[in-house]
Amino acid sequence: MAQGLLIIVSGPSGVGKGTICKELVERRPNLKVSISCTTRERRRNEEEGVHYFYKTEEEFNRMVMEGQLLEHAYVHGHQYGTPKAYVVDMLEKGYDVLLEIDVQGSIAAMKSYPDAVTVFVLPPDRDQLRERLQNRATETPEQIALRLRNAELELFMVKEYQYCVINDKLEDAVHDVEAILDAEHCKVSRGAQGAAGL
Ligand code: 5GP
Repeated sequence: MAQGLLIIVSGPSGVGKGTICKELVERRPNLKVSISCTTRERRRNEEEGVHYFYKTEEEFNRMVMEGQLLEHAYVHGHQYGTPKAYVVDMLEKGYDVLLEIDVQGSIAAMKSYPDAVTVFVLPPDRDQLRERLQNRATETPEQIALRLRNAELELFMVKEYQYCVINDKLEDAVHDVEAILDAEHCKVSRGAQGAAGL
């Protein structure tokens, strides 16, 4: 069986990556999302094992030392990382696996997985990014300010990615990512002709 695609989606905080990824997983039965580990506190609307695996600094550091993480990074003052075993297992079983991770972690993952499909989600403009962060009301004003400062650095990294998608209307953004994935699956360089027995 052909290996699945590893898909890396990044973008500044508040751009709506999470909503796009949730929608993609609902629409594509062959797509699995990787659940990250983090040392940040659980938000009131989040669940263990659904949004993240919440770890202490000690637990997280142990996972790093034991090589359990495919990549990890320090983002907005907390540690985040992708558990490796799940990703490897799902790819081998032929599922596409989506990582919604920050730019530093993405660069590391691109090195280990040069065949990964990389997508950067852009806001229609900076004002909308600020509004979305303020409206979702999950961070303090200080945390929002930090995330907006980091957004400037992250936006600069778009050129490291293969594709960019502007999240103006959710439906259009999801459609764009689906089109990218469909095209990637048709690539001869990925062995798409094998489906015809060639
Ligand atoms: P949030 O705290 O808003 O859930 O996520 C903050 C940032 O951490 C987002 O940019 C998100 O993409 C990133 N992130 C989430 N999980 C991971 C991960 O496993 N690795 C890395 N490098 N970044 C992650």
